[in-house]
Amino acid sequence: MTIITRFAPSPTGTLHIGGVRTALFNYVYAKQKEGLFLVRIEDTDRERSKKEYEQNILANLKSIGINPDEKPINQSERNAIYVKAAERIFESGNAYWCDCSPETLEAMRNEQSAAGKKPMYDGRSRNLGLKRSDNTVLRLATPENGEIVVSDLIRGEIKFQNNELDDLILLRSDGTPTYHLCNVVDDYEQKVTTVIRGEDHISNTPRQIHIQNALGYPKLEYAHLPLVLGTDKKRLSKRHAATSLDEYHSMGYLNESIINTLARLGWSGGENEVFTLNELIRDFNISEVQKAGAIFDITKLDWINSQHLNNLSKEAFKTQIMPFIDNLGIDYSEYQQLDELIEAMRSVKPNLQLIAQALIPYLDTFKEYDEKGVNKFLIGSEETLKLVIESLKTINNWSEAEIDSMLLKIQEQLGLKTPQMNQPIRIALTGSTQSPSLGLTIKLMGREKSIELLNKALEFITK
Ligand code: GLU
Repeated sequence: MTIITRFAPSPTGTLHIGGVRTALFNYVYAKQKEGLFLVRIEDTDRERSKKEYEQNILANLKSIGINPDEKPINQSERNAIYVKAAERIFESGNAYWCDCSPETLEAMRNEQSAAGKKPMYDGRSRNLGLKRSDNTVLRLATPENGEIVVSDLIRGEIKFQNNELDDLILLRSDGTPTYHLCNVVDDYEQKVTTVIRGEDHISNTPRQIHIQNALGYPKLEYAHLPLVLGTDKKRLSKRHAATSLDEYHSMGYLNESIINTLARLGWSGGENEVFTLNELIRDFNISEVQKAGAIFDITKLDWINSQHLNNLSKEAFKTQIMPFIDNLGIDYSEYQQLDELIEAMRSVKPNLQLIAQALIPYLDTFKEYDEKGVNKFLIGSEETLKLVIESLKTINNWSEAEIDSMLLKIQEQLGLKTPQMNQPIRIALTGSTQSPSLGLTIKLMGREKSIELLNKALEFITK
């Protein structure tokens, strides 16, 4: 049997990283079983569904490389299929027309609540033999007794009592099909074998199984993924971190890193913390996914991104960083040592946007000195700066090693500890206390510019 999974987003917002995780697990599960991964747009809610969200979702899946094996389908175009299925359920005696008005239903619920019962449709039209009309809905006749056992690849067996499920509506009075019916019919029509989705859908599952049974559809495999939480264990939202994939791309997180991090939202198997999509497909085991909510922590993404950036070849890293450098809007056409600079700076920050920003002092001028650094290191460093300026003028071989040995001589001459020696120069050159090795920093900055900046810093402290 070919395993077929699907990602079935409702296009009511841009693609959330929790959604990417669901798509990823579906994709990986299908690929490791040499099956198919499909996408279905669940856009039956006309009011909330938007074409722009659908496009955003599809474009994002594409940009992260989670591509469906068939053209995605849209539920909004498939009404006739669902209506036919509903009629088939009616003909087989598993559904009935119900003409309860909204007022009747409300009164019923109020009575139930008042009696301390769970409010639900009580099946009062079930045996009335009503005919279809403009004010009837079609309801599924759910078995009144017994239970439904959902066997979940992550959670094991989950039991639901049928008497707690009411007779859900399949067709509204205007003849349109409802969410659960469409979902079930499409899983069958798309030949889906395995439903992997968020835990928030667990309670839908027994209802959907009843519809499947009424239609005589085969059983499906289920896996309900743990919720994605923020560091405070509340459902991940914009308050915690960026939630749309676009934002992570524009900050310069690699697809590999995003995939790697999202796979870790619930799955902690495998031997390595840093892995590629292919390694994930090799090592992933859905039964190792945890039940408890999975915490998304940006610092983990940062760490993983640094590792993946480090693993890139020189050329690949350059290809990745160039758009971010160009985005800075700086004219760096005169700068001679770009390749070396990029290489030297590749691990100074956790994402490409921040790395590109760290290049500003070399390609252009930085905006201002880091205040703490100024107070801690720059003030009182006149003598150091002066000696370094003089030595830089006379160095013959403009190399990292030569510059480093010059700096060391001055350090010994002045009897300074390394930070006291190096940090004032760093601040003078880059505005901040962070940069690669100082010899390399000066080399990459160039002789003229280094001297100019050191003089500027001298002026700054004497003021
Ligand atoms: N359309 C549903 C959602 O976006 C998913 C339904 C499913 O996976 O069965 O939450």
